[in-house]
Amino acid sequence: MSAERVRAATRVCYACGAATTAPAVRCDCGEPLWLPEVTDPTETDAPGMWRHAGLLPVDSPGGVADAVGDTPLVASDAVADFAGVDVSLKLEGHAPTGSFKDRGSALAVAAVEAGYAGDVRAVGTVSHGNMAMSTAAFAASADLPCVVLVPDDIPESRLGVIAQYDPTVVRVDGDYGRLYERSLELGREHDIAFLNSDVPLRVEGQKTTAVEVCLDAAPDAIVMPVSSGGHASGAWKAVRKLHAAGRIDQIPDLHFVQASACAPIDEAFARGDDTVASVDGGETIAYSIANADPPSGDRVLTAARDTGGTVTSVDDDATRAALDTLARAGISVEASCAVALAGTRELVQSGRLDSDAEVAAIMTGTGLKEASGSADTARATVDSLDTVLGGVGVER
Ligand SMILES: *Cc1c(COP(=O)(O)O)cnc(C)c1O
Ligand SMILES: [Zn+2]
Repeated sequence: MSAERVRAATRVCYACGAATTAPAVRCDCGEPLWLPEVTDPTETDAPGMWRHAGLLPVDSPGGVADAVGDTPLVASDAVADFAGVDVSLKLEGHAPTGSFKDRGSALAVAAVEAGYAGDVRAVGTVSHGNMAMSTAAFAASADLPCVVLVPDDIPESRLGVIAQYDPTVVRVDGDYGRLYERSLELGREHDIAFLNSDVPLRVEGQKTTAVEVCLDAAPDAIVMPVSSGGHASGAWKAVRKLHAAGRIDQIPDLHFVQASACAPIDEAFARGDDTVASVDGGETIAYSIANADPPSGDRVLTAARDTGGTVTSVDDDATRAALDTLARAGISVEASCAVALAGTRELVQSGRLDSDAEVAAIMTGTGLKEASGSADTARATVDSLDTVLGGVGVER
């Protein structure tokens, strides 16, 4: 290991500056820890996100990890018209399991193998969706046992998607929010590295989304959906690092968007608070980002304020309109990502985002895992098909 990488084996608190060499997840002050900044932003010719290996604690272990990152950034006139601003879309759905979580899982599993989580015999996570699938996939690729804790009432369809990588799946009855802390405690007792949403090793990998966006497009603002705050924390770490290293002239404003039915970070931001209070979250089509008690919520507030960004929220109707617009541009994303586009439009309309700005919106996951459209079908017999096809494309 290089000197830089040895240094990265410590963890520091973004809030109080305390440091530890234990593979801890949270600081004694209660806030999440992250790895110290590394100072070598040189690019390598490694594939995918490993191009930025100088910013990462470990190199790619190869295999499916090489397919993570370097996702496309695309623009569409229809999408820009909808948003009212020049917006490019970072398509994280191109990842091996269809979401940016793969950046965190690939890095974290490689770092666990390199000893960054101490002496563990398995990895685990607490998730009912993308993170479960992603962690299980990368654990499988490293031949590490994996345990996934899911809520008892998880839909069967989602369970099947996770199960294809053959992790140990445990349906847990009881307060799902409490499971986050409890899993970390139990993980220490049972030598299982729980790679939950905002743990230092996951954040370290997930920062590469913003690294790629900044180096490929240098936008004035980045808009992303936020739930636990792990991805947002990574973005904040990335933009500060790149700026300090002179790789970007200006730190982009970081704007974070929630679903209004479950928007604890937005509510705290609007009140001007420094800490996020948990809420009684309601139902939303953006279920991937409905976190009523976000573990990195306070860090997201700091990230938004530090970069001149904001936190906002949008309702499901606004999200559906964004989903429709994306679909008309041929882009399938989860409702949770359409939230970022709906949020971009809302921020422009409310004057919080300059309509002259160059914006990158992060489309965090593919829509191919969820059937969001209701199919409007025509029917025909072989004999009547002639008539039906004659009507295709004719104004209805
Ligand atoms: C996990 C997830 C998010 C939210 O990320 P956090 O790091 O929990 O804030 C957003 N979109 C999708 C598709 C996700 O899977
Ligand atoms: Zn601290």
